[in-house]
Amino acid sequence: MSNVYERLGVPTIINAKGTSTRVSGAPMPPEVAAAMHEATQHCVDMAQLQGRASEIIAEATGAEAGMVTAGASAGLLLGTAACLAGLDPARMNRLPDTTGMRDEAVVVRSQRNFYDHAVRAAGARLVEVGLADRFSGAGVRDAEPWEIDDAIGERTACVFYVAQPSSRPSLAAVTEVAHANGVPVLVDAASQLPPTRNLRRFLEEGADLVSISGGKAILGPQGSGILCGRRDLVASALLQNLDQDLFFEQWRPPSAVFAGLNLRGLPQHGIGRSCKVGKEQIVALLVGLGCFVEEDIGERNQRCLGRLKEIEAGLDPEIGCVVRIEEGANGQEPCLVLEVAPEPHGHSAFDLVIALQDGSPAVHVDPSFVDDGRVAMRALCLKEGDARVIARRVNEVLGRARSTG
Ligand SMILES: *Cc1c(COP(=O)(O)O)cnc(C)c1O
Repeated sequence: MSNVYERLGVPTIINAKGTSTRVSGAPMPPEVAAAMHEATQHCVDMAQLQGRASEIIAEATGAEAGMVTAGASAGLLLGTAACLAGLDPARMNRLPDTTGMRDEAVVVRSQRNFYDHAVRAAGARLVEVGLADRFSGAGVRDAEPWEIDDAIGERTACVFYVAQPSSRPSLAAVTEVAHANGVPVLVDAASQLPPTRNLRRFLEEGADLVSISGGKAILGPQGSGILCGRRDLVASALLQNLDQDLFFEQWRPPSAVFAGLNLRGLPQHGIGRSCKVGKEQIVALLVGLGCFVEEDIGERNQRCLGRLKEIEAGLDPEIGCVVRIEEGANGQEPCLVLEVAPEPHGHSAFDLVIALQDGSPAVHVDPSFVDDGRVAMRALCLKEGDARVIARRVNEVLGRARSTG
């Protein structure tokens, strides 16, 4: 039986890398896919739909308000635009021109990464703080709260924080200095689920806005995300995202987001209009979020572990790899690590990554550790039968290299 990709002539791949965008995220759970399909069959007022989304996201995260975005990166652009423009429609219309606005986003230098392009795209200028001796090998320290305090000034619109287990200073320390200066903190928490409690954690630590990917562990649409936090900031983000081609008299702001907020007018299409999110993304994200909150992540990880063990069991001992299965800390998903000793087959870890990717079917794995001779695989995006194919392909690549080498 052919699937839609076969009919399009696009080969499907085996995704042992994980929910990365490049390899199309995860297969969608059936109940989420069914809701997405159902959503396509009706029309709604998009502002009302986002209003209901706000209530559901608030319930799941503890935030005052929330909205569904076109992804965590879109959420960073919208969140920055909210910090820059507030509820002023004239400022919204002007972005990314920030004339007359506070337009600096303070960021710890060691947290810089190319997703912060979204922060810059809104019109903000990044002001970097600290020198990370702990990464350069010169020492033990990274940026400290007093350095962030020192960098905040009259032009500061927000502090931008990238949440990773290794991030320093702690978010709690950063929100404390930011709030002492009256400045909001925008958090990139795109890939910090699981554990499930991280849906709430960053807000509890004082974040004003948190951006989360919907296409990673939540298993919602690949192009979806959540932006949640302070209600006035979510309202600003929503105003700059929704299509606003209507008269002010027609505008019926959803009270979950806009109650008590006074607007003097509506922006026209805001800077976030290019991060449009469709009704089917919104509905599927909300259903996916509900499933994620209910799901026992320990059980999910056990299923993944079972598939990784299946890969391990299928590997030929003759290929000379040491295989290790690492259970994730804090509810993170388990990972299979293949240590590729070039003997007896003459293949490096990177050669294996390339050969798997270029083979048929293409198998995509995590190349992050190839410099250390290791290939990593994860099972969340694998389908029934994939584990056996992966083991066979690894055996073929390394076994053939040996027999022809
Ligand atoms: C994945 C990721 C993003 C982007 O998330 P999308 O939902 O794909 O837009 C942003 N920041 C970090 C740190 C990420 O890992």
